[in-house]
Amino acid sequence: MKLIIIILVAITTWSCSPKPISCKADAKYAVTEVSDSTTVENSDISKVVKTEKEWKQELNEMEYYVLREKGTERSFTGKYWDSKEDGIYTCRACALPLFSSETKFKSGTGWPSYYEPVKQENITEDTDYDLGYPRTEITCTRCGGHLGHVFKDGPEPTGLRYCINSVSLSFESDQEKKK
Ligand SMILES: [Zn+2]
Repeated sequence: MKLIIIILVAITTWSCSPKPISCKADAKYAVTEVSDSTTVENSDISKVVKTEKEWKQELNEMEYYVLREKGTERSFTGKYWDSKEDGIYTCRACALPLFSSETKFKSGTGWPSYYEPVKQENITEDTDYDLGYPRTEITCTRCGGHLGHVFKDGPEPTGLRYCINSVSLSFESDQEKKK
């Protein structure tokens, strides 16, 4: 009797053995859901994305050269290097607020200089080697337009000098807002 039970158990075990194979076959038909989360928003700043052709239509030659081709205007030639009016400097290409006149200081470089941005998230930093050594380039977070560079030889309280091309900026005067 015991032998019959053992044989039965053995048969049952053998007959079960193909099961994992059928399970594997079933697995082939299982639906694999892959979530695609490649779109990453940087805080609440929605990006402005335009083709180079569109930018060329919207910007004048000098604006395009600096903002889109990362050029630099000649020092002491820009509109804002010596400006002392109260207000907010915005991105010339997309109007995102970038710097306040309150943080503007006389750097003697011939480019408008600030010791901090209005909001850190409004500017994006990157390293460039255009002059053969590393410099920290800054761009507008919203449209990616080139603004200038930041150096660590600025005044207190930050010790930073944001050296910006006038042509990358527009200016909204406090007085104009009051009108
Ligand atoms: Zn911008």
